[in-house]
Amino acid sequence: MIDLKNLTIEKAHNHLKNGDFTVTDLVNEYLNIIKEKNGDINAYIEVYDDVLEQAKIAEGKFKDGTATLMTGIPIALKDNMLRDGFIASASSKILENYKATYDSFVVKELKEQGVVFLGRTNMDEFAMGSSTETSAYGVTKNPLDTSRVPGGSSGGSVAAVAMDGALCALGSDTGGSIRQPASFCNLVGLKTTYGSVSRSGIIAMGSSLDQVGPIGKTVRDTEIIFEAINGYDKMDATSTPIELRLKPTILKKRIGIPREFLKGDGIDNDVLKNFDEACKKLKNAGYELVDVSLPLIKYSLAVYYILQPAEVSSNLARYDGIRYGYHEAGKDLLTVYTKSRGKGFGKEVRRRIILGTYILSHGYYDAYYNASVLVRKAIRKELMNAFLNVDAIITPTSPFPPFKFGEKSKNPVSMYISDIFLAPANIAGIPAISVPSGTTNEGLPLGLQIMAPFLREDILFTIGKDFEKLV
Ligand code: GLN
Repeated sequence: MIDLKNLTIEKAHNHLKNGDFTVTDLVNEYLNIIKEKNGDINAYIEVYDDVLEQAKIAEGKFKDGTATLMTGIPIALKDNMLRDGFIASASSKILENYKATYDSFVVKELKEQGVVFLGRTNMDEFAMGSSTETSAYGVTKNPLDTSRVPGGSSGGSVAAVAMDGALCALGSDTGGSIRQPASFCNLVGLKTTYGSVSRSGIIAMGSSLDQVGPIGKTVRDTEIIFEAINGYDKMDATSTPIELRLKPTILKKRIGIPREFLKGDGIDNDVLKNFDEACKKLKNAGYELVDVSLPLIKYSLAVYYILQPAEVSSNLARYDGIRYGYHEAGKDLLTVYTKSRGKGFGKEVRRRIILGTYILSHGYYDAYYNASVLVRKAIRKELMNAFLNVDAIITPTSPFPPFKFGEKSKNPVSMYISDIFLAPANIAGIPAISVPSGTTNEGLPLGLQIMAPFLREDILFTIGKDFEKLV
């Protein structure tokens, strides 16, 4: 028996290198856990049927000396990432039978290193949601407390890792979807700088906000995966060229706290108490903590809920029930469209498409979309100015701990508040990480969010590693 609970990428790599166990042994242990637990947790929608073949390829790399740290590492893929020849459905009925015809950039990069893809994980439909309750394939339970949600939209990915059904996972984060679920399952989740990891082959949702990123048990694990997946890709027009990527510099060891941002309504006292304790721990570890004034970032969520639906309505226009995806016959073209889209998309997705269409309509475009683009620029500038004086800015990850099924799904606004602290990083395009930060009195997991300037993931890894030692 391999101690999966305490296994990290580096530990697994050393065992594989020393021959303590083979990739096949490791993968079989994960497959057994999935068999035992997935029926209840529903982290995976599909376990790939070629897992053992992939394990053999990885073993070949150990034999011929081309293995990297990621070779043979069992990973879970969010259901919005294309893997050639396999279904990627974004957990929507409309793409139920959609088979990818090429590999996404991240899959291609990891495949070259002999990573083992275990399966595709459940998510909120098209990554819209914070609880994985909007999936067309049932809810995912939080393995730490099965009466509660695992967060979302990357809920299946975090649940897969938290139930020891994968060593690590990939998620996507448009407005918090890696960081919030990571914090709900006591894991580390990294939202990468916009442009650092290619979006090629990721089912588009909010294209100016979407980013792929790693989920793992330790900060170091997310760092290793980040190193494997970041890079320039000509297939993504927003990919940052390598020569523009920044080199680590010496840190000031000064962290900013956006004090007035933490005073909003709907933030649990337990969360604020835990955050104060986190600040104290960082101080004891030698960081100077200073208040930073960021009066505009409180508008990030409002800006998000203008830009995101607008981009959704345009991105999802391609699902017309004709070229591919769910199709319903009708007497004329319009009926085919409305029936296919009406039945193929779930309620939350339809809500966003309608909102976005309104926002982009003639007469409202300037008032909503263009105004939000201007506020977005101002938020970005405000954050960049703050980073002149501090290495990083910290907040709690979520305003509340994992909640129960149905608790927020009836009131969309109460669900949207989940990302209050997370949306600023997506609006500005900067990287941010969530690191476990202890629990509430009830024992529910909480996270600390650390944000850094553009392309400075290294700062998140440094502070994140320091912090995780203290918790
Ligand atoms: N919860 C947010 C939403 O519903 C963010 C989702 C995400 O990051 N994919 O849109």
